[in-house]
Amino acid sequence: MDISHRKRTLLKVIVLGDSGVGKTSLMNQYVYKKFSQQYKATIGADFVTKEILVDDKLVTLQIWDTAGQERFHSLGAAFYRGADCCVLVYDVNIHKTFDTLNNWHDDFLKQTDTENPDAFPFVLLGNKVDVDGGNSRRVTEKKAREWCASRGNIPYFETSAKEGYNVDDAFLCVAKVASQNERDLDIYFRGISETPSEPEQQSGCAC
Ligand code: GDP
Ligand code: MG
Repeated sequence: MDISHRKRTLLKVIVLGDSGVGKTSLMNQYVYKKFSQQYKATIGADFVTKEILVDDKLVTLQIWDTAGQERFHSLGAAFYRGADCCVLVYDVNIHKTFDTLNNWHDDFLKQTDTENPDAFPFVLLGNKVDVDGGNSRRVTEKKAREWCASRGNIPYFETSAKEGYNVDDAFLCVAKVASQNERDLDIYFRGISETPSEPEQQSGCAC
């Protein structure tokens, strides 16, 4: 398919969640198809990029990782600025990482410059579902989905960065909701009041 003539879009994606939940691993699995057991609190680059087709349009995801600063819960407004989507990650085997989602979610909205906080697209990933064949799980899928519903129908995926389970599907959804956000902002800044001819759902995605 010839897609070279189409407009390219850069979408900024922020990945947040407690230290150790697998944020860096999910990004490495998605972008490089690699997984490491070794725990590394820092990475060299601020972000990685990946091109992906969304509804026949090529977009570039610019996915921002933290360099371990999440341990201090102090990422700063510069890190969040201009984000098109925020991916929240918790570890299904450690309940505390689920409890802190409220903080990450609220902190993001507080720090970011988004025009419409209620409509800002988040995606939640419940990671490490492979551990112990699911026997050490502490947060049920139902509970996670209830939290998503209470926060404006955030799309939810259960993932394993180790096995690559659901990782591509999750980031395709991220790309879709981020694209939608970018289109909405575009319309906002051009001052066009009418809605797009084929409105898409803001928080749900057809994934
Ligand atoms: P971060 O601090 O959120 O960036 O977490 P990391 O990506 O550094 O991962 C922390 C640890 O969890 C590392 O030892 C990873 O190998 C491990 N890990 C990450 N994702 C998974 C997963 O899906 N399954 C398993 N079993 N281990 C994982
Ligand atoms: Mg990390």
